[in-house]
Amino acid sequence: MTGASATTDSIRPLVDPFGRGIEYLRVSVTDRCDFRCVYCMSEHMTFLPKKDLLTLEELARLCTAFVHQGVRKLRITGGEPLVRKNIMWLFQTLGRHLESGALSDLTLTTNGSQLARYAADLRAAGVKRVNISIDTLDPVKFRAITRWGDLGVVLEGLDAAQKAGLAVKINAVALKGVNEDEIEGMIRFAHGRGADLTLIETMPLGDIEGDRTDQYLPLSVVRARLLDRFTLEDIPYRTGGPARYVKVKETGGRLGFITPMTHNFCESCNRVRLTCTGTLYMCLGQDDAADLRAPLRASSDDAALNEAIRAAIARKPKGHDFVIDRATSKPAVARHMSVTGG
Ligand code: SAM
Ligand code: SF4
Repeated sequence: MTGASATTDSIRPLVDPFGRGIEYLRVSVTDRCDFRCVYCMSEHMTFLPKKDLLTLEELARLCTAFVHQGVRKLRITGGEPLVRKNIMWLFQTLGRHLESGALSDLTLTTNGSQLARYAADLRAAGVKRVNISIDTLDPVKFRAITRWGDLGVVLEGLDAAQKAGLAVKINAVALKGVNEDEIEGMIRFAHGRGADLTLIETMPLGDIEGDRTDQYLPLSVVRARLLDRFTLEDIPYRTGGPARYVKVKETGGRLGFITPMTHNFCESCNRVRLTCTGTLYMCLGQDDAADLRAPLRASSDDAALNEAIRAAIARKPKGHDFVIDRATSKPAVARHMSVTGG
């Protein structure tokens, strides 16, 4: 049904107008979430009607079409991907592309709330690593940031992931006045458990019932402060994403920086993002998009779908231009990160 037997011979790579090979697809499988992080969603979010969502079979078919066109890395995200019903079926189906060698990496970004339940199944489906978002190790602050989350449950999920043999990267959004005093402790926590830590700057995506200038903390400032405590050595390590890594000499662990605001990383962008309704965004920070649901549903043959994918990649813009300051109170793009897939 999904044509999950991609072979490397039939692959026609996707290359954008700036010569960047598109090998990385991030797929938001739901816009829903069991948390309401303050920088990501408003407390009273309106979610898409369930009928507008692609079915899991349709998502598998779409992902497979991308794999046939040279995508080597799939990241499943959301919203919270693990709250979507039957989501393990999608991982198991896409995992077959790992077996054929067409795909090199199948992974996910999760808030960790459901990992205790799913970690072993994810590993069995071929997932080798997972990004878990944890912005603070203080349970009271954790509840304040996520509004609905429970740090204890997430840490159980982290334990389960490591126990199942999944490599873990912890993602933390750097938030002014909230977790900036905890970064050293988070580095020691992550590295003490053999996990990487990546810090992310807040991006102006979607209305959130608040002022983003109050949250924005440039990572250039964080990095300068860390130099009082740690020796940071630039390393060439890459995971296919935008993070730039250093090795922390004192802990021996890796620390990543994702700096869409202070240092634009668009030149090397190799990714596109698919929403749970089949809309393809060629850039996180731009509004141009391509509807893949119509060609997907128009025929069981993939010819029109493949053509729509190639036409979309031919329009991939050079980059984004995010600004957060008091004069720019509107988000750069109206859609939330939970829609485009973080
Ligand atoms: N629910 C999952 C999670 O939280 O990991 C996956 C989706 S979430 C949208 C993916 C990542 O985007 C998380 O690490 C989250 O912290 C980050 N994120 C959400 N909104 C953001 C924003 N406005 N700026 C920067 N990062 C954001
Ligand atoms: Fe949910 Fe992830 Fe957004 Fe938090 S960042 S509200 S966990 S989608």
